[in-house]
Amino acid sequence: MKIDRIEVYRANLPLHEGSYHWSGGKSVSIFDSTVIAVSTDDGLTGYGEVCPLGPAYLPAYARGVRTGVAELGPSLLGCDPRELDKLNLQMDRVLKGHPYVKSGIDIACWDILGQACGLPLCQLLGGRYGEDYPLYRAISQEAPEAMAERVAERRAEGYSRFQLKVGGRPEEDIARIKAVSERLMKGELLIADANTGWSMFDAMRVVNAVSRTAVSIEQPCLSYEECRSVREHTGLPLILDECIDSLEQILRGRNDRAMDAVNLKISKFGGLTRTRQARDLCVKLGLAMIVEDSWGGDVATAAIAHLAHSTPSELLLASTDFNSYVTVATAEGAPQREQGRMKASDRPGLGLTSLTDALVRMDELTVA
Ligand code: MG
Repeated sequence: MKIDRIEVYRANLPLHEGSYHWSGGKSVSIFDSTVIAVSTDDGLTGYGEVCPLGPAYLPAYARGVRTGVAELGPSLLGCDPRELDKLNLQMDRVLKGHPYVKSGIDIACWDILGQACGLPLCQLLGGRYGEDYPLYRAISQEAPEAMAERVAERRAEGYSRFQLKVGGRPEEDIARIKAVSERLMKGELLIADANTGWSMFDAMRVVNAVSRTAVSIEQPCLSYEECRSVREHTGLPLILDECIDSLEQILRGRNDRAMDAVNLKISKFGGLTRTRQARDLCVKLGLAMIVEDSWGGDVATAAIAHLAHSTPSELLLASTDFNSYVTVATAEGAPQREQGRMKASDRPGLGLTSLTDALVRMDELTVA
């Protein structure tokens, strides 16, 4: 089986809530998402999606995905998409770094592998754990009371895990965490995600002020070293995200006892192949995980679902249902949220049945 065509599609994904705000005054109102379609000489087509959280979150941006795929594409024609480790080494040989560029191609080739052997990806990724798995809801940064109201609304929809976007002024972030935690129900999980937005000084002010609160802190500061310093002075559970993008970083963090959990984003590691390695390392080390991506629509949500559903339940804190945040459907057959939970498809591969007209093919980027 050989790759004989790579197509690039683009879609704008507006948000039901209008806009999404996080640390440092950053926000996005329409996500620019890229879907990659990889086809083979025997008629199979697989899909992958990459959707950065705007250009100022991780070192990734939407047009970079498309430019990078055009750069990589010609060297992948003729490769067997089912040989995923070989394929990833080939991509690394041709383009150094840029894991987010490679992510969509890798996911599409996993989709082909699943279709070729007639199995859903969660089985190929290790096996399905339980009926379904829990989702968290990201609560866009607003005034403290407004965020508490949003949590109540989402609780009514069935969510029991909430991630508050903090990383603003410490006094306000303390008020945000307190306003929500005061009304937290039994069994719920509350995470305050600063998305690198605090200085060590601000982070210490916040964690000290909420030290008796049932909140976990995610990525308080920009660098690993700053986060580790905060970690050494707080008893609150700590999740690392932006500074964890490789197996080496996971091992380093584990050896330093620098975190209790990690946030694994598929495009941050460069696709399902590498994120699966990271997931399996975390399982071996007993590290809890949030399994997700930076953002996306139906294709990304399907890929996340297979990785999340094949992660041992006791170590999966939560995953995401990005396709419920956006107003546009980009594929048929994607998993849908039910009472704050989700399950990966039983169909082969990602389980998608077709793309929708919301996706526009960029013919000038087709490689064949
Ligand atoms: Mg995060």
